[in-house]
Amino acid sequence: MKLSKRITQITGGGSDGWDVFYRARRMIDAGQNVVELTIGEHDIRTHPDILAAMDRAAVSGRTGYAEVPGSFALRDSVAARIAARTGVATTRDNILITPGGQSALFAAHSAVCDEGDTALYIDPYYATYPGTIRGIGARPVAIQAHAANNFQPKATDIAAVAKGATSLLINSPNNPTGVIYSAETLADIAGVCIQNDLWLISDEVYDTQIWEGDHLSPRALPDMAERTLVIGSMSKSHAMTGSRIGWVCGPPDVIEHLINLATHTTYGVPGYIQDAAEFAIAQGAPLEDEVSAPFKRRRLLTLKALEGQNVVRAVPVQGAMYVMLDIRATGMSGEEFANALLDAELIATMPGESFGKAAAGHIRVAMTINDEAYVDALNRLVAFAKSHAS
Ligand code: PMP
Repeated sequence: MKLSKRITQITGGGSDGWDVFYRARRMIDAGQNVVELTIGEHDIRTHPDILAAMDRAAVSGRTGYAEVPGSFALRDSVAARIAARTGVATTRDNILITPGGQSALFAAHSAVCDEGDTALYIDPYYATYPGTIRGIGARPVAIQAHAANNFQPKATDIAAVAKGATSLLINSPNNPTGVIYSAETLADIAGVCIQNDLWLISDEVYDTQIWEGDHLSPRALPDMAERTLVIGSMSKSHAMTGSRIGWVCGPPDVIEHLINLATHTTYGVPGYIQDAAEFAIAQGAPLEDEVSAPFKRRRLLTLKALEGQNVVRAVPVQGAMYVMLDIRATGMSGEEFANALLDAELIATMPGESFGKAAAGHIRVAMTINDEAYVDALNRLVAFAKSHAS
């Protein structure tokens, strides 16, 4: 039977640089002792206090159908958190609770793009971006942010393809590069959006992982709140990846339509997960800091491990749980390096090429194993690179 183009073309087909990842998985399944530095998943689990809140909610009966847009209490607390962090007046009417940031990305693009519309996104990009855009029937167009510019996108590059496009998706703090977009970059992006009447979809799921400089939400820039949809998630901030809870924050009329979308797709997020998220947010910054602390520590360990050599250079590690390493001095592509490192040292990393063309010649390292094993892996990675330097 024939399947729809929409569903069969989500991935775009072809080799997408994920071969190393799948090979590492097979090696692990076969019992090999592979050091796993590929995936953005904390090495700690959800905090026991959050789990206790989840349990209390479930036992008290929050296991039936829950509020489709999210409970008033949770939407209020997400709105208050956003207002406090950004200074932009935000109420529950600006918030739709979704099953994770991924679902929020899908919803946000559904809200603004029609079939065949052009949806822009920045390369290097989080792996699902082009597929999410294809999944709602729009046409993904990548704009490269260059290594030479520390992966900050340039307004001129965006403006060059913005005419006639519908939306622009950005992500800061950025996965995979670990870069935070500067105030200047974001002001330039806002300018291009206003000039070209683009929706801005701002993926801010790493907003609690800020190591250098400030995270600025572009929704707070002049005249941007009316054209910005912010993607948020409890996955990274509260180590709740498996609970599947996030949100879209945007103008109330958009949220109203997205509630209709939720009614006809997800039918909301389980009530006990919503209540646990509300509890987690109420714990404030101390809990967020506790969850992000290991990455903050390992970022410093990374910089230390890279000292005294220049074969492996880190892209400025400003935020998120990753470091992007420039390994071009070895003469290898990111894919060649990651494959060779996996074979020689049993260390699995992601080739830059898995995240688009712009990060070729780089590898992404997730700082997601215990400190000692992490430093050991980095030291071996550097020694391996040095032995291959041309
Ligand atoms: N955006 C970015 C940039 C991500 O890295 C991820 C997950 N790795 C997501 C969105 C989606 O996360 P979730 O659906 O778990 O909220």
